[in-house]
Amino acid sequence: MRTTRSRRGLPATGAGRPHRRPPVRGHTGEHGFGKGGKTLAGALAKAGRRVVLIEQSDEMYGGTCITIACVPTKALVYQAEHPDRRLGEAAWFEQAAAKKTALAEAMRARNFEMFDSPETSTVITGRARFAGPHTLLVTDAGADRAAG
Ligand SMILES: Cc1cc2nc3c(=O)[nH]c(=O)nc-3n(C[C@H](O)[C@H](O)[C@H](O)COP(=O)(O)OP(=O)(O)OC[C@H]3O[C@@H](n4cnc5c(N)ncnc54)[C@H](O)[C@@H]3O)c2cc1C
Repeated sequence: MRTTRSRRGLPATGAGRPHRRPPVRGHTGEHGFGKGGKTLAGALAKAGRRVVLIEQSDEMYGGTCITIACVPTKALVYQAEHPDRRLGEAAWFEQAAAKKTALAEAMRARNFEMFDSPETSTVITGRARFAGPHTLLVTDAGADRAAG
């Protein structure tokens, strides 16, 4: 389980050694920190529920749309329609790709901040699977933890 914070406020990757964590009880567990997961987490938190949002990849906070799909593609389309004519094609493409990556990273960090707070929900980085009708098992790199 990655809980050590990096300077950007995101959990540092590879922190700590693999170990078993105590169960998290009395929370609503959700797996997937995408559009669906965060919409539901926000609604449940608003209704006073304690929510644990489980995301398998620390590169996917906020889900597919902002990290690798809708936002990056639109950012590249925008760059293509607004070329920097002072640059050669290769440099222009490099700049467009860097802007797209910076935008996706900023949105990913903002999503993490918004959904890992006492007012909304807790984010756990790991792969979730149902271990029972009311229990989710979260695993990564040898660590596992139950939420129910
Ligand atoms: C190229 C492209 C462009 C797109 N453009 C648009 C657009 O312009 N407008 C639009 O409305 N839609 C667009 N979409 C669609 C949009 O990305 C999806 O509709 C949206 O991401 C679906 O949200 P979701 O929450 O269902 O899934 P996702 O956003 O995919 O979130 C699911 C999350 O669950 C995590 N996960 C999966 N299994 C587990 C597990 N067992 N344990 C823990 N975590 C897990 C994944 O890592 C992922 O982060 C686009 C899609 C693509 C591919």
